[in-house]
Order: sequence, then C-alpha cells, then structure tokens
Amino acid sequence: MSKLICLTLLFFSTLSFANEVVVYTSRHYDTDKELFRMFTKETGIEVKSIEGKADLLITRLQREGENTAADILITVDAGRLHRAKSMDLLQPVQSKTLQENIPTHLSDSEGYWHGLSKRARVIVYHKERVNPAHLSTYEDLLQKKYQGKILIRSSSNIYNQSLLASKIAHHGIPAATTWANSIRQHMARAPKGNDRDQVKAVAAGLGDIAIVNTYYIGKMVNSSNPIEREVSQKVAIFFPNQKDRGTHINVSGAGVTKHSKNKANAIKLIEFLTSATAQEFFAKTNYEYPVKPGTPLPSLLKSWGEFKEDTLNLGKLGEHNKDAVQVFAKVKWDRGP
Ligand code: FE
Repeated sequence: MSKLICLTLLFFSTLSFANEVVVYTSRHYDTDKELFRMFTKETGIEVKSIEGKADLLITRLQREGENTAADILITVDAGRLHRAKSMDLLQPVQSKTLQENIPTHLSDSEGYWHGLSKRARVIVYHKERVNPAHLSTYEDLLQKKYQGKILIRSSSNIYNQSLLASKIAHHGIPAATTWANSIRQHMARAPKGNDRDQVKAVAAGLGDIAIVNTYYIGKMVNSSNPIEREVSQKVAIFFPNQKDRGTHINVSGAGVTKHSKNKANAIKLIEFLTSATAQEFFAKTNYEYPVKPGTPLPSLLKSWGEFKEDTLNLGKLGEHNKDAVQVFAKVKWDRGP
C-alpha cells in the first residue's frame, strides 16, 4: 500500500515537474505577465517568473550552476545575453519555428539566444526648436551646432553601451572614441536619469534633442501621468542614418539555460513569444517593434513611420561591450560637458 502511495506521489511530482517552465527575467512589464498567462492557457504549462536586474540574474545562474531552477534567461538587450553565453550559462537551440519567426541578425548565430522584441535607439527632438530636415545621422551630432543641445543618460546604461558597441563594430575604436568624446562635449548637462528624464529635459528646454529608445515615447504618450502625456506632445521621433547603415536597434531576447530541467517547455515558451499573437501583443501593449516580419503594428508605431534598421548581427553588441565601456571611461562621458 505504501509502495502504491509512493508511486502515485512520484507520478504526480513528475507530472508537475514536467509541466512548468522557470524564467529568470530582467523585463518587468505587465505585457510579459499577460503573455505567460496566455501561454499557460494554451499549453497547460505553468510559467514561474523571477524578476531581477540582468547582471544579478546572470550571477545567480552562475552561482546555482547545475542546481538552477531556471530554464530561460530573458534580458532587455543582446549584450547581456551574449555575456551569459560567453559565461557558458546558456545552451544552443535549433528550432525551425524560431528560424522562421526571427530574422538572422536578431539572434545569436549559434542559437544560444533569440530576439523577441525590438527597440530602436533614436533621436527625439523638440518639435518647435528643431527642424527634422536638419537631422541626419548619429555622426552628424559631432557638429559644433549641437553644443549644449544633447541629452543622453549615463555610460553605465546598457542601451548606450550597445549603441557605442555598434559604432565600434562599424567604424572601429578610434572613430567611436571621437564620437563619444564629441557627444560628451555637446551634452546639455552631465548625464543623469533614465530615458524618459532626457525627453522631459528636452520638453523643459534644457536641450533640443535626446537619444532614447522608441518605446519610452509610447509609454509617455499613453501614460497615466498627465505631465508625461504633455511632454510627449512636445517632441517627435527621428530615425537616424536612413541613408547609410540604418538606425541602431537592440532586442529583448531569451536563451535556454545550460542546466534547464524543462528544455522542451522552455523552447515551447520562446517559440510562443515569437508567434503572431505574442508579437502583436508586444507592439500593442509595450510599444516595442515585433521581430517577426509582417506583424501588424498599432497605429502609434505606424505614425512614427517605417525606418531602415541597422542589420548588424546583435551578437556584435556583446562582443564589443567591453571596448564600449572602456571608451566611455576614456572620454569621461559621465562627467558631462
Ligand atoms: Fe528600457
């Protein structure tokens, strides 16, 4: 009898073990929670998500080693996923669905991580003080006329590190150093605050242009805070480098952990997140660009216009991250003008 109970317990524990997927994620959006609920409804697989800062989650994965409960690591940028890969914390996944849904440059070339949603790092300008016909490229911001006009956050921010890493990948360290040094000289103030704070500073007249991620404008347009809504009306988006390499983009992405206990479920969840339904949901509720080509865009994203994106393989952002951090330190970015 006791043997039967044991077997029954074992059976059910195996069932529950097989029917979950554990996600370590540095995304903290309601969008993701809703997508996980939709996935559970569709598949019966329960999603346990643990949120935290990417670096802490990566350290935790390393510390936990093969005992980790995590099946998937999600971060908001390719640079951190590349770091997790190079620390041997992820495993390659070959999936026809992922291959079909994600353009090659948005995933790791060896399948260790996969892009889920895109963000463009653009120029946001004050509508009354800047004529967009005079804007062109990230490099154009080196002109003297931008002195005291540029708002951008600190060098510890991964979005800036990845922007500079893309510059290094295209033009090399010396050109990237010249660029970072000039941008620092042209700052309206020493870097402080997040992307939204840069947009607020432009609206308040501290400077004319900010370098920020597109979805923050979406969040401000639809904010419950009337001040953010008002700020968003004073600015517009400009996509730089349309005539050459394209606007710098980055992805939120996911990788299956090296010691995943629910690998099949993990792959299923990542595939689900690249499905038409999920892709449309990322765009509609979090104002991110879908990775899956042909996904319909909500009207706000449509109103920003189509743009040419930089198709540099995003793994390069991770490869050049260290150099980018060093360049920022060398030009004393955080000291400001
Ligand atoms: Fe963000």
